[in-house]
Amino acid sequence: MAGYRINLYWMDGIAKSPNLATLCSILNKKQKTFDFVFHPNRLLKFPKGTPYGKKHSYEHKQYYDLLKGEAGGYKIGITQIPLEDNCFNHQDVSDKNNLMGLVTLKDMKTFNVSGRNEYQYLSYLIVCVTVCMVMREDLELGHEKNNFCLFDPCLGKESLKDSIQSPFICGDCIDKINSKSDINGDFLRDTLSLLKYVEKDNKSDIIFKTLTMPFMSIPYVFILDNVVSLIIRLVRNSTSTIDVYGESNGSTQVEYLSGFEGWLIGLAVLFVLLIVCIRFYKYHKGK
Ligand SMILES: [Zn+2]
Repeated sequence: MAGYRINLYWMDGIAKSPNLATLCSILNKKQKTFDFVFHPNRLLKFPKGTPYGKKHSYEHKQYYDLLKGEAGGYKIGITQIPLEDNCFNHQDVSDKNNLMGLVTLKDMKTFNVSGRNEYQYLSYLIVCVTVCMVMREDLELGHEKNNFCLFDPCLGKESLKDSIQSPFICGDCIDKINSKSDINGDFLRDTLSLLKYVEKDNKSDIIFKTLTMPFMSIPYVFILDNVVSLIIRLVRNSTSTIDVYGESNGSTQVEYLSGFEGWLIGLAVLFVLLIVCIRFYKYHKGK
């Protein structure tokens, strides 16, 4: 049985994506220390007219006042608007009966790494808050400077991308975690398993994005055009030396496909590849 039940809530608006129920099931399959639970019917909203703080964000305290009303020990509110001080995430560990955290999806497009999906990005921020809540310690306070550790201060925003690229926990923070006697034995191992999930490159994402980028598709069509042309000529038992780029060596008669035929076949192959990639992408999206 999982040791720590972590309750997730959407704050101030329903986002369709990522699907938090799917996220919980992904995270729960990777480890046994934490039990992530999404509460779809508990959408926490500020009353209409609640004033924004500076920079069009609510203050952390406003969120925590909403979260406090929910049952359960560990609570994370997820929002799409910027947090106070432009943080990615934040936690309040002052009351051991009400351990609360916040995560924002704002800036995901800017700071996520190519090849990692929104589930992985959100997981990274959630894991950070979860560890801080369970340890009842704001680990980032112990960081004098950014070293790409999970607990780097939010202030060095630019380093988030590098941190997600190769997620890790620095030696000092591991020592701190290990020094807590009331922490479950598999806590560190399972936290690292979740970071491994964040690190896993989603190859189907990369292929999908590359193939669907119009400018990138053009070289593919050129390459496919020539490859298909070459294969057809080989099948026709041409004994000549063939230049892949379609230039005759001058001394031998070679049958060529017309440029138009090559393009058509190239496009057809590209289309089939695209269909395969889209199916592959959809199949793996939820994993
Ligand atoms: Zn650290």
